[in-house]
Amino acid sequence: MNEPHDIAESDIDEGFGARLTIDLQALADNWRKMREHSSPARCSAVIKANGYGLGAEPVATSLYDAGCRDFFVATAREGAVVRQHAPDARIFVMNCILPGIEETCRVAELVPVLASMEHVALWTQACIDNGEHPCALQVDTGMNRLGLSIDEAAALADDVTRPPGFSPVLVMSHLACADEPEHPLNDQQLAAFRDIAEAFGGVEASLANSAGIMLGDAYRFDLTRPGIALFGGAVGDHVRPLTDPVVSAEARIITVREAKRGETVSYGGTMTLRRDSRIAICSIGYADGYMRALSGTGVTLRGHHPEGGHGFACGHKLPVLGRVTMDMTAFDITDLPAGSLKAGDFIELFGKNVPLDDVAATAGTIGYELLTLLGSRYRRHYLPAGKSG
Ligand SMILES: *Cc1c(COP(=O)(O)O)cnc(C)c1O
Repeated sequence: MNEPHDIAESDIDEGFGARLTIDLQALADNWRKMREHSSPARCSAVIKANGYGLGAEPVATSLYDAGCRDFFVATAREGAVVRQHAPDARIFVMNCILPGIEETCRVAELVPVLASMEHVALWTQACIDNGEHPCALQVDTGMNRLGLSIDEAAALADDVTRPPGFSPVLVMSHLACADEPEHPLNDQQLAAFRDIAEAFGGVEASLANSAGIMLGDAYRFDLTRPGIALFGGAVGDHVRPLTDPVVSAEARIITVREAKRGETVSYGGTMTLRRDSRIAICSIGYADGYMRALSGTGVTLRGHHPEGGHGFACGHKLPVLGRVTMDMTAFDITDLPAGSLKAGDFIELFGKNVPLDDVAATAGTIGYELLTLLGSRYRRHYLPAGKSG
């Protein structure tokens, strides 16, 4: 039998098919911008799902160095990772799974966000058994996802019914329609949350995500919770991003080929060339989160973006030709002078020239999904941030 191959990461790096460049300085600057917009409320950072797909560790470290001391993650496991890079920060775990995460919360000093009366009972018992540990409380003001009902929260706020050992450090709720400023649910949720915040007087209150911060002073309370804005994503359907792009994704060209007018490209033969063409076949596909819905033709779920996705290189938009496949995508480079792109060169998928949110819209989704679907095959390159408050 052969010896197992001992291959170092550095030996195989040159074979990467696509890369992400993540600008940690832009990330830190974006957080400072959101901190200004949040003022006088404190500004936290929501870095669930591996820092919106960009890497929990570098993201947490840069934000911590920028001065952020409050983080929100989805799971206790994510919280334990962030803890290693944010020693004295408060880390809130929003997907509170009880029973289950009590021990992790104690060991990593995480604050669970209790989201039902059952959670309150279980957590209170855990505190009676093992000693006090801070918690937060989520109240549902209209989204119907997580949280105590308004009546349950109001009863709990009442000193008489509050269980001994139950002392939340934060009461929070989440807006369902913050990205649509005119939506009537915003005012309703604000009014309901104001009452709850008042009932829990003395406990910090938090309502606004990125888009919520931009709804105005009234929404900011004591602590804001921006996520997508930190990563340069748009906070509403038709709003320009408030912050700078943080990530650019590029795919490498495997080969450039010529094809004749009348021939078809990719699976299904759904794309017939209308001219003699030069085609760059890139090492990127839906397995990398470059979704099949970005196909040039042959995928029908896109509604008002029939033309499909495009990349960018040498000052030109380069349309996707035919279907995006698992590991490869064809881009039309016919408009570039011959020889301007060759095997090994890069085509931008999104970044400075192709806005993240435009690519997402073309695929019928939002920047959040595009970021969090980025796969593990990218070579990730982090541009460092300076350390200033
Ligand atoms: C994800 C999330 C946020 C951050 O939302 P963005 O729209 O990314 O700013 C804030 N609060 C809660 C409860 C969340 O789940």
